[in-house]
Amino acid sequence: MPLHVPDYIRALVPYVPGKPIEETQREFKIRRVIKLASNENPLGSSPKARAAVRGNLGELHRYPDASAHHLKQELARHLRKTPVEIIVGNGSNEIIDMLIRTYCLAGDSIVTSKAAFICYRICAQIHGVSTIEAPLDENLHADLSEMARLARDNTRVKMVFIANPNNPTGTYNTTEEFGSFLKDVARIRNGSVMVVLDYAYWEYVTAKDLPDPMELLGEFPNVVVLRTFSKVHGLAGLRAGYGVARPEIISTVEKIRQPFNMNALALAAAAAALGDKAFVQKSVKINNIGMKFWEKNLGRMAIPYWKSQGNFLLIDVSRGLGKCGSEAYLSCLKRGVIFRPVANYGLAHALRVSIGTPEENRLAVKALEAEIPLAVRATASSPQAAD
Ligand SMILES: *Cc1c(COP(=O)(O)O)cnc(C)c1O
Repeated sequence: MPLHVPDYIRALVPYVPGKPIEETQREFKIRRVIKLASNENPLGSSPKARAAVRGNLGELHRYPDASAHHLKQELARHLRKTPVEIIVGNGSNEIIDMLIRTYCLAGDSIVTSKAAFICYRICAQIHGVSTIEAPLDENLHADLSEMARLARDNTRVKMVFIANPNNPTGTYNTTEEFGSFLKDVARIRNGSVMVVLDYAYWEYVTAKDLPDPMELLGEFPNVVVLRTFSKVHGLAGLRAGYGVARPEIISTVEKIRQPFNMNALALAAAAAALGDKAFVQKSVKINNIGMKFWEKNLGRMAIPYWKSQGNFLLIDVSRGLGKCGSEAYLSCLKRGVIFRPVANYGLAHALRVSIGTPEENRLAVKALEAEIPLAVRATASSPQAAD
């Protein structure tokens, strides 16, 4: 008898990660490869976190602390919350998965926007949950009121997922937009729709009108905030993330959490990284410098881009280079620079660039510039941004 696979698993298109450096070196026989493809921290990871990993190497034969006591204590202190309002995960991706498993039945739906972080859709589909996407305007700005309307009109919608700022677009929604959106959603079916706010890039945000997630949490009981150690703390390889919500939500999701979902080294490193303010500051600073460098050079090369609140930026290679994203990606790959193609987000005309060190940024700009066809160079008008 043939093994049965549900249709939604058969139809699943798995997550495509950024291309690894080693694979690129092997395939193209180039030694120097720059990876600006996965929004990783170009400075490496917090020295305090690395010391904590070394300090825990003698205990690898022990199971990790299933309650994540120490990390939750540190997070509670850091966030001015209590440990019962916090859940930890093997990356915040695991928490996305746990939330959908906890609150959705197969056949239910989630709402998000087009070009939203793709893990929401993938995690939903794994559980037979479908995704309804609100359209974006031409500035790739998400329409919160349309998302509220979709959640209201489709009775099987259980959750709304919003990344603020969003990856890969870098765009964000304001405090004002969230104010009316969260009030609208709270009124749907007696407050039974959850709003998940993914703040993976919060530390990098410079816009003054992007809302503080902890303030929104206090005001709206159906909100869950996700944060990660993968970006500003530089711990993407260890897998550590967390969610913050009311104790009733946390204790419900805790029921389905695998007891040892975070490994011992990740637990130790994450707790130490929280206390490494100097590393966070340094990371934010190098990102600000890099972002300015990229904006200036994209302007100079007349490559349109969308202004970003993250440690990455989306560029319009179709207008800037006369190439589609996958073409531009491949030609830069051959020059030893890994960017991220985003056609799977419906953005075939764009490429996502992570902000690197000054040296990486300089070399990556050079690779891009070499790809500008002479014809496009000749017609390039004055510097312009897409937004
Ligand atoms: C990078 C990123 C994350 C982090 O995921 P982890 O599983 O914690 O590594 C979460 N959400 C968004 C939108 C991201 O871009």
